[in-house]
Amino acid sequence: MTTWRRQHFARSRAVDLRAPPFEEDLDPRFGSGFSYSDCRVDDARLVVVNALSAQTLGAKILPRTACVGLTATGKGWRADLEASDGRCGFVSAKAIVNAAGPWVEQLLREIAGLHVQARVRLVKGSHIVVPRRIAGDHAYILQNRDRRIVFLLPFERRFTLIGTTEVALAQPPAVMEVSDEEVRYLCDAANRYLRTPINAGDVVWCYAGVRALHDDGKASSTEVTRDYVLQLDTPPAARPSCPYSGQDHDIPSPCRARAG
Ligand SMILES: Cc1cc2nc3c(=O)[nH]c(=O)nc-3n(C[C@H](O)[C@H](O)[C@H](O)COP(=O)(O)OP(=O)(O)OC[C@H]3O[C@@H](n4cnc5c(N)ncnc54)[C@H](O)[C@@H]3O)c2cc1C
Repeated sequence: MTTWRRQHFARSRAVDLRAPPFEEDLDPRFGSGFSYSDCRVDDARLVVVNALSAQTLGAKILPRTACVGLTATGKGWRADLEASDGRCGFVSAKAIVNAAGPWVEQLLREIAGLHVQARVRLVKGSHIVVPRRIAGDHAYILQNRDRRIVFLLPFERRFTLIGTTEVALAQPPAVMEVSDEEVRYLCDAANRYLRTPINAGDVVWCYAGVRALHDDGKASSTEVTRDYVLQLDTPPAARPSCPYSGQDHDIPSPCRARAG
């Protein structure tokens, strides 16, 4: 068995941006900054490792399978499933966790036919990848003129990942595309700081995702909370004995989700 010793991150501190390891990266107009340490993970591998771990503990993992129907049965729920090869089936469960990300509301309304008060704000975020602009293995968080931050991360050894944007969407798009305007926005934000500027022609790859944020009524998508909100619901047959019957219950998490 591996025993891990507790380790601490280096403390945050003021740094001289004109000295190593930063001086090759940024325009020398910027002399001072602050450094702190954080963790990173390959998110795709994290999902696979989590699924494998759950399987080891007895979970049945059904990749490329959509939940196409959700019905309260009295004892719990029946979820109708359809695999990408056309095979169909169903599972019964005492409880369902709706973790459908940007489709979370669509699943509740259209697949489960439930009326829910909580709303989701969908905000697209795009990234671009350019040839490496960071000499060391550190990242940068840059303050942008619109009061947002843009980050630069070392990516796959020879590249730098720059993100993100914020574009409000009415519904999850069938195809995710990074617009020319978003590429320009990210290049402009990075070029305010970089010693060697970038332009759209430097972009070797780009990708976008959709943040599913709890709609707390804020006008600007930048200000919408990134906190988790848990809402408890019960199948209709169980409702009479449920103390939370007929109400929405938001349970703010004590831990703050990272603002992506
Ligand atoms: C631009 C951007 C940048 C981000 N940056 C960071 C970051 O730096 N650090 C960080 O920690 N987080 C970041 N996040 C947030 C992070 O990506 C999300 O918190 C995380 O992906 C949420 O995971 P999830 O499993 O809840 O949902 P998702 O990853 O969205 O997965 C939902 C899944 O549900 C599936 N699904 C939908 N409908 C159905 C259905 N009917 N049947 C079956 N399956 C269905 C979908 O196919 C999908 O696989 C970022 C997000 C975005 C958009």
